[in-house]
Amino acid sequence: MAEEADTGVSSRAERKALEKAKILQRESERKIFRLVGRVLKKPEAERSEEEASVLLLHRDTVEEHCKRQVRRNVLKRKQEEVFDDADELKSKVRQLAAAVKQANHLVVYTGAGISTAASIPDYRGPNGVWTQLQKGRTVSSSDLSKAEPTLTHMCIRMLHKEKMVKHVVSQNCDGLHLRSGLPRNALSELHGNMFIEVCTSCSPVREYVRLFDVTERTSLHRHGTGRTCMHCCGELRDTIVHFGERGTLEQPLNWKGAAEAAKMADVILCLGSSLKVLKKYACLWCMNRPASKRPKLFIVNLQWTPKDDLALLKINGKCDDVMSLLMEELNLQIPVYKRAEDPIFCLATPLRPEEVNSHTREVIAPPDGQQDRSADPGRQAEEATAVQGGWFGRGYGKGRKKKKAT
Ligand SMILES: [Zn+2]
Repeated sequence: MAEEADTGVSSRAERKALEKAKILQRESERKIFRLVGRVLKKPEAERSEEEASVLLLHRDTVEEHCKRQVRRNVLKRKQEEVFDDADELKSKVRQLAAAVKQANHLVVYTGAGISTAASIPDYRGPNGVWTQLQKGRTVSSSDLSKAEPTLTHMCIRMLHKEKMVKHVVSQNCDGLHLRSGLPRNALSELHGNMFIEVCTSCSPVREYVRLFDVTERTSLHRHGTGRTCMHCCGELRDTIVHFGERGTLEQPLNWKGAAEAAKMADVILCLGSSLKVLKKYACLWCMNRPASKRPKLFIVNLQWTPKDDLALLKINGKCDDVMSLLMEELNLQIPVYKRAEDPIFCLATPLRPEEVNSHTREVIAPPDGQQDRSADPGRQAEEATAVQGGWFGRGYGKGRKKKKAT
């Protein structure tokens, strides 16, 4: 017994001593690491003999420092904005124009970079709209409601009209593609649309387009907007897909359209997206195909993207600059956004009188000469059904057939 107790005591003492030694060891390693770091920061000529010998003595630590520096440099380079000079930009856009002309099925992927000219902040940055909403904070909405489609949005719409662009897959929730006049069946808003709220109790899902940001009270996993469905009185929800959520709504996300487009795509043009989120959606990239069968990838972005190495061409320019050069190359006019032609005014369902005060967000002012239709209850019912049909609800493929029949 006594012997056992003795060993118990001695092994405990040993363990303690061992632990202490380990702590001291780590402490001394840290000291050396800092010392080596300090020495390395000095220009070689200014190092004392003693300092030089420290480096020789701790080669592993020196190596670790160098590795870390390389990693820091890579990270820094990825965040830097790079601009091609005017000549390079022009020659790159010429290559892009040739690809656009030759493409059988060009699909465009867009991110926050195409809306910054409309003074919309990016969504996922530290001060981005999405981050703020996720934290349950409200965001000043005046910028969002005042924003209008940019030159890039208008060019994309024109390219679609000219049958050069077949489908647009957007990460933006600002609704500007829709407002540019791009038909909804040519659009997938993967992260939702801030102007659209839906009733998921109705089957098919019933959609309400509004003239204001409906996400005022919503956040991660909390999608109720506080308004109710005109038909079943169920609570309406927004269509926004937050980071970490899986978007399952058919519209406006239109995953089916996005996946079909990617399958057919022979050219993919990425505009103003860091692609950090998009890269996770494997079905958008067709990278399981042999290299020669993959779509040709063109990327327009000022910063590094994880797809740069796979791109046929990376264009370091602002989207509006690149698109206006592209239109010039293609000999196409850039359409000007006209509020009177903004489809959102036709798509919108006016609020019922008792819901007029259900939000505090700024309303997109109707174009001059158009009446505020919220005061016209007769038209209200008509609009509600008009939005219902078509591609919305059970998938746009089915909806399109229905549309053709009528
Ligand atoms: Zn309903």
